[in-house]
Amino acid sequence: MSGVWDNDKLLRVDMTALTVAVEAYPLAWKYLGGRSLSARILLDECDPGCDPLGPDNVLVLAPGILSGTSAPTSGRLSVGCKSPLTGGIKEANAGGNPGQDLMKLGYRGVIVTGQPADREKRWGLVVSEEEVRLTAADEYKGMWNYACCERLLADRPKNASAISIGPAGELMLSAASVACTDKDKARRPARHAARGGVGAVMGSKCLKWVVIEPGKARLRQPADNKAFTTNNKVFSQAYLGDGRHNIFKGGTSTGVPMANMLNTFPYKNRTAGRNPEVDRLDGARIHEAFARRGGGMHNCMTGCIVRCSNIIHDVEGSYVTSALEFETLTLLGSCCAINNWEDVADLDRLCDELGVDTIEIGAAIAVYMDSGGMEWGDAEGAKALLRNELSKGGEIGVLIGNGALSIGVHRNHHRIPVAKGQALPAWDPRPLKAAGVTYSTSAMGADHTAGLVIDPELAGDAAVRASQEAQVVNAVCDASGFCQFMQPTLDEIRQCYSLFYGEAVTRAQIADQGWQCLEDEWEFNRRAGFTEADDDMAACLREEGIGPDNSLVFDIPPDVCAKAKTRLPLRDSLFEKGAAA
Ligand code: SF4
Repeated sequence: MSGVWDNDKLLRVDMTALTVAVEAYPLAWKYLGGRSLSARILLDECDPGCDPLGPDNVLVLAPGILSGTSAPTSGRLSVGCKSPLTGGIKEANAGGNPGQDLMKLGYRGVIVTGQPADREKRWGLVVSEEEVRLTAADEYKGMWNYACCERLLADRPKNASAISIGPAGELMLSAASVACTDKDKARRPARHAARGGVGAVMGSKCLKWVVIEPGKARLRQPADNKAFTTNNKVFSQAYLGDGRHNIFKGGTSTGVPMANMLNTFPYKNRTAGRNPEVDRLDGARIHEAFARRGGGMHNCMTGCIVRCSNIIHDVEGSYVTSALEFETLTLLGSCCAINNWEDVADLDRLCDELGVDTIEIGAAIAVYMDSGGMEWGDAEGAKALLRNELSKGGEIGVLIGNGALSIGVHRNHHRIPVAKGQALPAWDPRPLKAAGVTYSTSAMGADHTAGLVIDPELAGDAAVRASQEAQVVNAVCDASGFCQFMQPTLDEIRQCYSLFYGEAVTRAQIADQGWQCLEDEWEFNRRAGFTEADDDMAACLREEGIGPDNSLVFDIPPDVCAKAKTRLPLRDSLFEKGAAA
């Protein structure tokens, strides 16, 4: 049976034997992609009990099902593995162009296994129309991400893209990220699959970078090109016209005042939900600076119509970083009482250079400050810590680079806001209880992209249902390749699939796809030794209140949270909910 997937392939990279092999993509996996493909491969091929940094872990690079097509904002790349941070399954995804470029060449997944005998060497992987090969990359050893990608892409075609790790990945730190280059002319490694230490796993395999040269490869061709193209136009117009675009067109940084109002702009390691100097971290300050310094809004990947990403310049008009996101302003800024957005921009650049998750590192520094290791608000100290300690593997740098739990345990500190060992993102589970249910029950640990619900009115079983539905919608979105900021509904995604594959995808089928992804992830964790006791929240979030009269605590009992892992009857409204992060 032939179809639009005829040329789809899997690329296997064996880092023990230092060989590559290409095989046909299984037809049965047609509706797997990105996060759901990664989960299936890990469940089938990775020993859940393995050492995350050993040869038996499997690193998966998987574009979404619609990546490389003309569907708007659909080119995300998922990175999956067993997490060295949580010990469970992990998927983190990023924008930039590598996902689309891999998919244009027909690669629905790159599966990296094994580990070289000589761990001092570094390797690069070249993927192009003509060849796939591993190549020695020792000259890139220890390089920071920006210099690495500039050198890597300098003599390559203008449409080449790259995936890389920085020193943190090479040091195998548990907060290490995987960087993807954006679509701009400079092709900056500013888009990160950040959470859970996926960069440490790439580093454990001594794979410093992947470069993709799509050459003249065309967009993936749908079964019905005319209908698919028309649908994309209708979908784009709906998104731009129905209010969804208004949420993100100024960038996530403009969400700071709203979050502060809701008591979910954590301050000083979450001892408060509001920051008295919130105005200095408001994304409005960033927008004011565009007129004086340059920079502005752009899209990080080809075909994105949201354009949520900001480009930050300094007072001289020189590039500093992109994008300075709400999460980064919260964790590296407010949570550490570093209340100057320009300092946070410098810290963001350092994190991107070293290849670490800004959420985990911000939370770790906040714990360090809270336990007396540094003064609150010491921006220069935090920069020096990253630049001089973390980058070189110094003792405190390693503890911070291994995340909030690592430094918190070392400091014997009582306030470590994590779930399954992963630091909480900005959105606090005390005012936003449905988000807390997600953090407790997701196989990923505390991850807002697993199913964020921003509704302070929800409690009890209503919060459980909202969390479950958000987890299903986000799982489908993360498999599709759509950026969550596009907020596609299940109906919109299944319509794209139907026209791309030329066969109707029903509501029941797309809901099953999302649920199966969650089941696969939970099953991996069960096999890794996780129990119901792991589906909980750090004690400090249950015991220490914030908000009015410090009355807001996370008070949904574990047995009620657990209901989110038992499938509830489908409601029509599920299919009209957009993904959210
Ligand atoms: S919406 Fe933002 S993060 Fe998503 S692809 Fe577009 S620019 Fe990148």
